[in-house]
Amino acid sequence: MSQIAYQIQDLSKIIADKLVLPHPDQIIRHILTDSRKVSEASSSVFFALKARRDAHQYIPQLYEIGLRSFVITDENFSVANYPDANFIWVKDSLKALQQLVAYHRSHFHYPVIGITGSNGKTIVKEWLFQLLAADFKLIRSPKSYNSQIGVPLSVWEMTHDYDLAIFEAGISTVQEMDHLEEIIKPTIGILTNLASSHDEGFESRTQKLQEKLRLFKNSETLIINSKYISELSEAKKIFTWSFDQDADLKITDISTHNGNSLIKGIYKNIEIAIRIPFTDKASIENAVICWASMLYLNYHQQVIAQRIEKLLVVKMRLELKSGIHQTAIIDDSYNSDFSSLEIAIDFLNQQSQYLTKTLILSDIHQSGIPAVQLYQKVAQLVENKGIDKFIGIGEDLQKHQGNFKMNKWFFKDTDDFLERFDKQIFKNETILLKGARHFEFERISKILTQKVHDTVLEINLNALVHNLNHYKSKLAPGVKLMAMVKAFAYGSGSDEIANILQHHKVDYLAVAYADEGVALRQAGITLPIMVLSPEVSSFEALISNQLEPELYSFRILEAFADYLSDHQIESYPVHIKLDTGMHRLGFTDEDIAELISFLLSHKALQVKSALSHLAASESDVHNNYTQHQIQLFDKISNRLSEALGYTFIKHIANTAAISKWPQAQFDMVRLGIGLYGIESVIAERAALQNVATLKTTITQIKELKKGETVGYGRSGIMKKDGKIATVKIGYADGYPRALGNGVGYMLINGKRAYTIGNICMDMTMLDITGLAIKEGDDVIIFGEELSVYDLSKQLNTIPYEVITNISQRVKRVYFYE
Ligand SMILES: *Cc1c(COP(=O)(O)O)cnc(C)c1O
Repeated sequence: MSQIAYQIQDLSKIIADKLVLPHPDQIIRHILTDSRKVSEASSSVFFALKARRDAHQYIPQLYEIGLRSFVITDENFSVANYPDANFIWVKDSLKALQQLVAYHRSHFHYPVIGITGSNGKTIVKEWLFQLLAADFKLIRSPKSYNSQIGVPLSVWEMTHDYDLAIFEAGISTVQEMDHLEEIIKPTIGILTNLASSHDEGFESRTQKLQEKLRLFKNSETLIINSKYISELSEAKKIFTWSFDQDADLKITDISTHNGNSLIKGIYKNIEIAIRIPFTDKASIENAVICWASMLYLNYHQQVIAQRIEKLLVVKMRLELKSGIHQTAIIDDSYNSDFSSLEIAIDFLNQQSQYLTKTLILSDIHQSGIPAVQLYQKVAQLVENKGIDKFIGIGEDLQKHQGNFKMNKWFFKDTDDFLERFDKQIFKNETILLKGARHFEFERISKILTQKVHDTVLEINLNALVHNLNHYKSKLAPGVKLMAMVKAFAYGSGSDEIANILQHHKVDYLAVAYADEGVALRQAGITLPIMVLSPEVSSFEALISNQLEPELYSFRILEAFADYLSDHQIESYPVHIKLDTGMHRLGFTDEDIAELISFLLSHKALQVKSALSHLAASESDVHNNYTQHQIQLFDKISNRLSEALGYTFIKHIANTAAISKWPQAQFDMVRLGIGLYGIESVIAERAALQNVATLKTTITQIKELKKGETVGYGRSGIMKKDGKIATVKIGYADGYPRALGNGVGYMLINGKRAYTIGNICMDMTMLDITGLAIKEGDDVIIFGEELSVYDLSKQLNTIPYEVITNISQRVKRVYFYE
């Protein structure tokens, strides 16, 4: 296949400091930076990148599955156990990766468009692909792969099959762009715009702009808003656009009508126009950038206008939802190309809820490589990634079905599939739907997913991972992390959240009750799980599911010890809860002597950890109390480990304590609410991303006269003639009745709409007098713009209560970009 093959000895000439190469002619086609994403072990080289977890630890398992080439940094790493593997030592493995790809890039002489800017990079890249793919064999960055690692992985895919490349570059601080420039070496540059994102990484806006412009230091041409040209230091060919100043393409008028925008401009003294199927400001700017780019590429205005009119929404996120007959559906029905297929399959493979993995794939168009090779490559990928069932939709896939080795079915098009396929055959599996737009896979998705009510809780998995990494970055080296997934993962949904946490290798999970832990085991979670409130009646379930109880009183301790001895179980991991001042559960200082003698005489109880809980870690007023709790915990837990003669994990810090009390991290922290984007320590909030958005849609709108009443008990009275909207969320969904009669509000198109009348069990009425709103519009109950903090203030409670009260009948939908 066209993927460029190197020999490992070629690589070593580019990047090595020191090497051991038993097989210098080993073929290298793939670069691996994430041990979980292997597709072709034998022809991959693994770069052990620096992360919080030392990537060298993955080498044994990679060797096991057939990887034979490694780029490493640890000089003391013992290679004796891997006689068959090639090792290259470098000082900085990220730099080595970048150098290697820069070398790879130097072999290609077709044009490369490099895009940077604060916003719009991915949209402009995807739109240019939509606009240019008919005329070029085009390769582009997958999704928004624009980081120090994402860029080299994208550029590595360049081959001689293509004749145009588009890559995006994103930076968060100084000097990063120089590295990306060396890899991308764009011949044509596009700067989208400059906004305030990542301001903290730069001294000033000017510095940020200068830094971004470094991507273009060797490019022949730059397509740019004319307001930035005074900042350009060196003379180069530029093509400018502007909404208000002189420019090669000067926009003179924008009018919107029926969901379309008509954009007029002047180019070479002639008035020209485009129409786009969008009306928002960002889309208009992005379309103008594409317009300017096409004019620069000498397209005829008529061709440009025809193509731009058909631009499609760019949707980069996958949706994970529950489907019919115990299935999970991953819906990626908006685009289809090879690299995003690979990313989507990796996401599929992260899901452990069901054993069977099914892929429904459409033909891939405009891939830039011939169909014969493309479908060989697809079949290989699908096989290497362990897909069990394959359903191909489209004539190309049908034609190349011989390549696929697993269980398979093929259909001419989506209609053919819907007519002939019996959906009953899907059961207990995770199904990835990956289709090009015009195959309309949303029709398949609709049939396979459970009916989604108007009200959904959207969970942004990227934000969750961001928050996890934020807290990880605050931990002292070696400190473990236990993630709290009790109470349906604080309302976010247990299986899916636990899956992501397992994939991101947290050390422990904790649930409140044994049955929550059993559910996680059934969903394929293999991490150790602590159960905070075990009951005697659940011991059997605990043990048969390898769940580890927290023991907090002599009553439960003795009962568990008896159970173990009755069943002749030895050395079972348990967690000892110490009460240092919360005064809820746990052994106190006075209990310790007795506790020690009990544990010494019951060796079947293997103390895995000792923990305590802080009563007011977030509160400055109680600093002395918290300090006292920490000291007491230190004292008692040490006494315990000395008496027992072995060490165990000690932990006391919850979310708020992770940042506020770094001295209380001990061996592990217990991260709860922060994971879900909520913090009691106000200074920490800005660093977190919003995870959950509760939204619904307007079911009906009514016009009412002054004096008419709304809802039960007639407590909502129209003060003047006006309009109300009914939405399908009520107190049974977790929208508290206390928010009725104008106490609470929701957001519709960014505007506040207050409740009117009493909240009903399943519905709420909102006063929308004076607002331009129609039936079907989205309504936000909480999320990014209307925070859970605000909502809980209106309710006089804390965010914990608001999020954990969202009823299970509200469907959770997960997003992943
Ligand atoms: C819920 C809980 C936590 C997590 O607290 P957050 O404030 O949500 O971080 C930690 N420890 C115990 C024992 C808990 O019950």
